[in-house]
Amino acid sequence: MARPYGARQRAEKTVVRLKEVYEARCELEFETPYQLLVATILSAQSTDKTVNRVTPGLFARWPEPADLAAADPGEVEALIKPTGFFREKTKAIRGSAAALAERFGGRVPPRMDDLTELPGVGRKTANVVLGVAFGVPGFAVDTHVNRLCNRIRLTDSRDPVQIEKDLCEVISPEEWTGFSLRLILHGRRVCDAKRPLCDVCLLNDFCPSSTTRRANKRSKLGADAVAGGPKNKRRVRRAAV
Ligand code: SF4
Repeated sequence: MARPYGARQRAEKTVVRLKEVYEARCELEFETPYQLLVATILSAQSTDKTVNRVTPGLFARWPEPADLAAADPGEVEALIKPTGFFREKTKAIRGSAAALAERFGGRVPPRMDDLTELPGVGRKTANVVLGVAFGVPGFAVDTHVNRLCNRIRLTDSRDPVQIEKDLCEVISPEEWTGFSLRLILHGRRVCDAKRPLCDVCLLNDFCPSSTTRRANKRSKLGADAVAGGPKNKRRVRRAAV
């Protein structure tokens, strides 16, 4: 599938604009690569806030991969239940923990091929861990990144692997991790799945999906919207997840 016309230019503009207002920040709380790996697995179909509520108890009870691998599954399920899909996630985090303990001396390997062999770990999780915990460039495609890349027409694909490939072709590796993290933040705060705030979006002068009548006029309210400025605070808060 060909990249949409002008995708490279739009991608470059988007990288620059998002840098103006967002820090490249992962909102999951963690202290070690192992904790980030587990938190990222738990974040599927959940919110970072919910994950951050359950992980302190999880890591206090089972601090190392070997501890979690040997944990009683029922006890783990009860603890992570608020994050949803708790049976599947228990299998994934215990399976990953066992693999880390058995094959990697209890450490998280900083390589895509090794990471994606762990149970419950796909390219999205691996890219988050590589980029955030190890500083190895990785473009993680979650539901927000998928939606935004399509709305801004940086890709024509809905397949996360193809989206990663398309975006990595048009932006330089040193931008991959930060760009993905900023897209996630913009998706949460402004470009909501059901109700995108195009009027206050700082990409609305070139985004092909913008619904604002002021198209071709860059929003001056973008920074306000992100920072929770007075005019837009209520709207942005309603759209935030
Ligand atoms: S202009 Fe609208 S559709 Fe485009 S990125 Fe901004 S909020 Fe999303």
